[in-house]
Amino acid sequence: TEQLMMESEKLSLAGQLAAAIAHEIRNPITSIKGFLKLLQNSERKQQYFDIVNTEIDRIELILSEMLALAKPQTAKFEPRNIRNILEQVASLLIGEANMNGIEILLHEDAGMPEVHCDENQIKQVFINFMKNAIEAMPEGGTLTVEMFPPGPPYDQAVKIVLTDTGTGIPPELLARIGEPFFTTKQSGTGLGFMTSKNIIENHKGMLNISSKQNEGTRIEIRLPVKLHVPKTGGG
Ligand code: ADP
Ligand code: MG
Repeated sequence: TEQLMMESEKLSLAGQLAAAIAHEIRNPITSIKGFLKLLQNSERKQQYFDIVNTEIDRIELILSEMLALAKPQTAKFEPRNIRNILEQVASLLIGEANMNGIEILLHEDAGMPEVHCDENQIKQVFINFMKNAIEAMPEGGTLTVEMFPPGPPYDQAVKIVLTDTGTGIPPELLARIGEPFFTTKQSGTGLGFMTSKNIIENHKGMLNISSKQNEGTRIEIRLPVKLHVPKTGGG
């Protein structure tokens, strides 16, 4: 299994982002301009119209994901039940999963403590990762969701593990997951993973991804129960 610890210095966001955003948004705009020109005197008006619409949708999607990325600064941390959040997200995605022959197995743990978190942001994190899992299993499969209360070596953090039986990620691409706009999908934005990683870091949590091509991907998330764990001197 290829393992990768996500390094916090990997994203020096501002500069990388500015260039990447400009690039990403210029592509659909160039395309829109071209097709608008064609629209003026063409018999294929409907077709060009649809393309222009799709490109505008793409810009909207990119911008809304960028906004999600900007939000963590205004996070509101409150004690929340992670088990409930996972249940909610799973039921939100069950329709999409069923349509693709995917089973979502939720292993609940009644012993999960409440976690200081921004509920909407943590929901967004699970939605992003579970959607990625679903999208990685076009021929069906299983998405397993496991939760673990704090325990050694992380006595102050809960653990959530998402395992899919999808396409997996080739080793040479694994290091690039989470780069702004890195996507292997036709209509992906390549922002979901980065946004999620950013939210987890703002929660002082940890993210681990391991993957094996043609076997599947495992995402491990650790979230501290209390945001500011006091440092204890010895004992
Ligand atoms: P997007 O989903 O828009 O492509 P993400 O940032 O969510 O952007 O993911 C980036 C890339 O990481 C995906 O395009 C895909 O190649 C890879 N990826 C992420 N999660 C998985 C997964 N569970 N299985 C396989 N590949 C994945
Ligand atoms: Mg995604």
